[in-house]
Amino acid sequence: MKDEHGTINSGMKNSSEPRREPFIPQWIIEKKRDGLPLAAEEIEFFIAGYTAGTIPDYQMAAMAMAVYLRDMTPAETAALTAAMLHSGDVVDTSALAAPRVDKHSTGGIGDKTSLILAPLLAACGVVVPMISGRGLGITGGTLDKLEAIPGYRTRLTESEFLDALREAGCAIIGQTDRLAPADRKLYALRDVTATVPSIPLITASILCKKLAEGIDHLVLDVKFGRGAFMKTRADARRLAESLVRVGRDMGKRVTALLTAMNQPLGRSAGNALEVIECCEALRGRGPDDLMELTLELSAAALVSCGRAPDTAAARAQLAAALDSGAAWEKFRAMVTRQGGDVAALDDYARLPVAARRAPLTAPRAGFVAEVNAEKIGRAVILLGGGRQRTDDRVDPAVGVADLVKVGAPVARGQTLAVIHAADETRLAAAKAMLADAFVFSAEPPAPEPLIAERILP
Ligand code: URA
Repeated sequence: MKDEHGTINSGMKNSSEPRREPFIPQWIIEKKRDGLPLAAEEIEFFIAGYTAGTIPDYQMAAMAMAVYLRDMTPAETAALTAAMLHSGDVVDTSALAAPRVDKHSTGGIGDKTSLILAPLLAACGVVVPMISGRGLGITGGTLDKLEAIPGYRTRLTESEFLDALREAGCAIIGQTDRLAPADRKLYALRDVTATVPSIPLITASILCKKLAEGIDHLVLDVKFGRGAFMKTRADARRLAESLVRVGRDMGKRVTALLTAMNQPLGRSAGNALEVIECCEALRGRGPDDLMELTLELSAAALVSCGRAPDTAAARAQLAAALDSGAAWEKFRAMVTRQGGDVAALDDYARLPVAARRAPLTAPRAGFVAEVNAEKIGRAVILLGGGRQRTDDRVDPAVGVADLVKVGAPVARGQTLAVIHAADETRLAAAKAMLADAFVFSAEPPAPEPLIAERILP
């Protein structure tokens, strides 16, 4: 309870009453700077003030740096998540009868699992209200991929979103101004104050946006490796454990898979090229690694919400939804519902097409020992298919397709990838970036497991 000065007032009158501290932003910053845990009310006050504009960027920046340096306890992280979640609306999905489930990935190169997983789970009878982001840095974004389909609308009103969910079972849209506004402000501030890589700040940022969708179950793909935000498996594990624990503290079942992101997922990176790969995958012709990850994440979601007793039973349901064409039909229903040109899913010539295509060939024979995801991601940016700044426009047509996979034997002169570019200058820049993205060995490389660990709720 707070009095008219914004002071914590426990209502107790005896001598054991805790000292009442007024909420002064710099005193709260000082407390965190000195490594003391903050009370939930102090965190709520800070986030509410920051969202309303009464706490300025410079004080929030100091707080973010104090959190970065001093960390937060799980209880503080949960309070931060709740405060950021309630800085805006939570979609009311309670009228939808089926379990509400979503997946979040920490981002990678060629990671198009959302476009396959959402209709696949919808075909298995769960509702997937997915609010996704755009690509930033070297990682791609689900919204950019979907917007490569002519007409596809990623901005829906809440009632359009709910109608789409009722009809197609899944919908993928962008964050609205009313969902987690504190995160939008804070993320932009962290980006320019060197405070992004903080486990409690990342945990709160991811969870507040996902919980604003009104879901009960969340599956996380926490990636590590060259093309990931977390470079080591140990860091990915720390983040996954924090997300699972804070999710549980907030009453949600969160499951995390730790997955390798050293080579791109699947065979393409670039928006329209990835849409084509997803259409092929939903018709049963997806590359092994993309299918394996999508099916394992989907199976974890079905087990979490009680639609399957175990992973094997979930995998059987998912295989049936793919084989029968039910998942493909759900994808078409979602694209139609969101205004996309559904004919483009059958006739790829209706998708944006790059003016120039050129193969990149193997300089020597051997086994592919490495396909450097980070360099592929950078090449896509140089082609204009990714963003260097949040307000950059992306060219949906460009990217890298037909990528070889690690372990494949190649002959000298064999195609390693096909570059799709808008013009010669960009093609040359991408070629130069990709020159040493492929490493070869005389012996087959030791296989690296795609799914390294599972962290259960
Ligand atoms: N993704 C988010 O949504 N937030 C972060 O802080 C980091 C990655």
